[in-house]
Amino acid sequence: MAAKTRVDVLIENGTVVTVDPQRRVIRNGAVAITRNRIKDVGKASALKKKYEARRTYDATMKLVTPGLINAHIHFYHHMHRGLSPETLAGMPWSDFVHRKVATIVNAEDEIWGGLGILVETLKTGVTTFLEAGSYNIGPVIEGVSRIGMRGLMGRRSFDMVSQGHDMLVDSTRKCLNENEKFMKDYRGGVGLVKPCVVVVGMGRCSDRLYVKSKEMADKYRTILHMHQANMIENVQESLSMNGARPIEHLYDIGVLGKNVALTHMVHVSAKEIGLLARTGTNVLHCPSTAMKISYGLSAFGKFPEMMEAGVNVAIGTDASDCSNFNDMVRLMYLAAATPKDYRYDPAAGSAEKAIEMATINGARAMNMEREIGSLEPGKKADVAIFDMKRPDWVPLYNELQNFVYSAQGNSCESVMVDGKFVMENREVKSIDETEVVERISRLAKGVMKRSKVPLYSPWKFI
Ligand SMILES: [Zn+2]
Repeated sequence: MAAKTRVDVLIENGTVVTVDPQRRVIRNGAVAITRNRIKDVGKASALKKKYEARRTYDATMKLVTPGLINAHIHFYHHMHRGLSPETLAGMPWSDFVHRKVATIVNAEDEIWGGLGILVETLKTGVTTFLEAGSYNIGPVIEGVSRIGMRGLMGRRSFDMVSQGHDMLVDSTRKCLNENEKFMKDYRGGVGLVKPCVVVVGMGRCSDRLYVKSKEMADKYRTILHMHQANMIENVQESLSMNGARPIEHLYDIGVLGKNVALTHMVHVSAKEIGLLARTGTNVLHCPSTAMKISYGLSAFGKFPEMMEAGVNVAIGTDASDCSNFNDMVRLMYLAAATPKDYRYDPAAGSAEKAIEMATINGARAMNMEREIGSLEPGKKADVAIFDMKRPDWVPLYNELQNFVYSAQGNSCESVMVDGKFVMENREVKSIDETEVVERISRLAKGVMKRSKVPLYSPWKFI
């Protein structure tokens, strides 16, 4: 008999959801890992014969998936979770939080708030995140990277006042200079967190900022991340300013492409879907935000049509004060279930599509599909393991349906990022979770004091 090959870790006996090109789901499966790469994926019986593992992880009655990808979060919004009145829709919400809270958030708030989001989302199976713009980029990339998750982040920048929203606006030159400085200073990243180009988008950026930012993303071989077409007002503003809808206009000025990721995208026309498909532009769908701050997802959302047309759609939990959670399993549920209702068609969404959105599509949106997003030999060892021996997982006939429609995110048992267990048996290994919770609770007192925002509720707190 041939000698066995040595590997570092063998995750064995689980149901392995590969998300590989054949979309194999391997019951009694195994994943072999050497250093930070996946060496092999297959039936446990076959892999046990081939490999001698330094460590085995028994995944009996466990679901083994690619690390989930939370493709849109905001570090600086975390410290005001639950502070704004829940009766504010899109623009009034943004006005409120930026006028009263975001302007008083400091680097410490962003770092600990950011770590709070990352711990929360990690504990639901997330290995990789795409952040939507920080104000204290240097200290924040240094501070959040110690959790050991993979991610892209950038500087929150915009140079135009839209609908009276004038807080924190910068000149075009400052936006471009600061973004380029960040790209240069942190080109190699800190740990597994790397820089990307971020602009706020919607009506808040000039054409010059859009065009130069796309050029910067091309030059540094990264992505350009922004928000677009969240509300009807955004479309109306674009029509009156440019004589074209938002995505038509971005196409006209050459800002669409495979390295562009557009968040929200609730209000798009059939023509715009065609432009997204033709240019390979990525869409980041945030269903929890769209519903909570009334973007009109159920009336206007065209996510099934986008996917039908070949547009890559990933999902993100968005800001902690308009979503307001960072549980990717809950988010997959919304991504799968909402189109069934708004299309009055149970086939308009599916567990499989939701899992793709949370894995391989997220990887593609971040230009990382060659490295992550599926469990395949040669890819980075980013793996999530969910415990199926729980009330929310039984009876267990169809692992994929239970994962998306029945399970809670806290059924995630262990998470490996880049070959290392960052969470094991629900214990975060890289940082002190209790410290994160305590620091956020302490910093929240300062945020409340500095922002002077009262508690909004029709009920009486005594
Ligand atoms: Zn956002």
